[in-house]
Amino acid sequence: MPAEMAGIRLRRLAEQIQMEISDLLLRGLKDPRIGFVTITDVELSPDLSRAWVYFSTPEGPEKQEQLLEGLRSASGFIRKVLGKRLHIKQIPEFEFKYDHSLDRGDRIERILADVREKEGWDDPGRTRGSAEEVARALREGKRFLVTSHRNPDGDAVAAVLGLGNILRRMDREVVLYNPDPVPHNFRFLPRSDEILTEYGTGPFDTIVVMDCSELDRAGPLPELAGSRLVGIDHHLTTSPLGDVYYLDPRASSIGEMLHRMLPHLPLEMDIELATCIYTSILSDTGSFRYSNTTPEALHVAAEAVGLGVSPWDVSLQVYESQPVERVRLLARVLDTLEIDASGRYGSILVTQEMFEQTGTSLELIDGFINVPRGIRGIEVAIQFRQDGAERYKVSFRSRGIVNVAEIAEQFGGGGHANASGCSLDGSLEEVQERIYGAVEKALRACDSSQER
Ligand code: 5GP
Ligand code: MN
Repeated sequence: MPAEMAGIRLRRLAEQIQMEISDLLLRGLKDPRIGFVTITDVELSPDLSRAWVYFSTPEGPEKQEQLLEGLRSASGFIRKVLGKRLHIKQIPEFEFKYDHSLDRGDRIERILADVREKEGWDDPGRTRGSAEEVARALREGKRFLVTSHRNPDGDAVAAVLGLGNILRRMDREVVLYNPDPVPHNFRFLPRSDEILTEYGTGPFDTIVVMDCSELDRAGPLPELAGSRLVGIDHHLTTSPLGDVYYLDPRASSIGEMLHRMLPHLPLEMDIELATCIYTSILSDTGSFRYSNTTPEALHVAAEAVGLGVSPWDVSLQVYESQPVERVRLLARVLDTLEIDASGRYGSILVTQEMFEQTGTSLELIDGFINVPRGIRGIEVAIQFRQDGAERYKVSFRSRGIVNVAEIAEQFGGGGHANASGCSLDGSLEEVQERIYGAVEKALRACDSSQER
């Protein structure tokens, strides 16, 4: 049996044992020493010979010795009942352990940690939630809807497929969803055709939204009441999405964050998941070039390559297979290049007419904005993409000095320090005037802070 299958079975059996013992205790073991006991967790040795049964009580740790005695003397009876109810050959030997995590002392520790955490609470760069919490939520769910932001990029697509792989291997029901198409250069990812443009019929007990810090950047979602919303994100924000979330703005990509969740999940990377994780990191680090190319990003990518992912094959798909229409569109777009008199910011424009004339659509423009950013002297590159007669989607890229997330936020958008976006209503001239004003102000602020 593959290791991950064995892992899932083990976890399930442990959960079953936890339920059965809880049930027995609830209905009373007629032992006065066993008062209000809660079984908080069960862990099994892989050969099923031993089970660690964690318990707790609201009466506090003073009661633990007494409870321990009671549980130990009841364990023969518990094993007999389990033997009848669970269809396993051998019932494990129990080892009862008192679970301190719910104790008052610990609670005070946690309150103190919370207070410490709240200092700097308004820092959008801090980590919130954890890989472990989200992994637990994944283990607890049964029927999942998995999605990301609209107009998904490589990170968003690979994250959805990667999590799909994880949940499928955990035997969960999963619907992968994005109302917008998978960009042509990420369709090579395993099972990319399984991302549906409609979520179909629920109900979903868990809805996972990735690479997205605001619900309105995700597509239409089913009624959230009755579902648990889980967020996995790496944008700069003080208000992470979800009832349960893992937000780390220092993570290179969602792929890297999924990798961090693996120690808390009953499986390991397989080649399919490795392909998704590698592509996610590749895509969001701009092929291991941006400042988010951390040692961890490279380590995880190396692990994926070690499992058999071929960097050249992925590059061929992602960067070296463009439709000729994309290049023709790029030619038109680059013809609109404008550089400010100071030479410190520049912009390109993509209109609806250009899409019509070249027979293309917006999924092909990813990466265009890197051309103006690559010009010597440019600190901020801007892309205006017409999104309606009088509406523009504006993208920003920074060379590193200007925090463009702060600029986008002024217009109701957001993103990362070096890549952000927002949408504005108005004519092109009006929109440009407002955006250029904000960029110039940001550049001046950087100048004066450097002088200081
Ligand atoms: P892009 O320019 O590729 O559309 O977006 C660059 C980054 O900015 C993305 O990672 C995305 O998170 C962020 N971003 C783009 N548009 C918006 C927006 O309208 N709102 C927010 N909050 N973030 C955006
Ligand atoms: Mn991302």
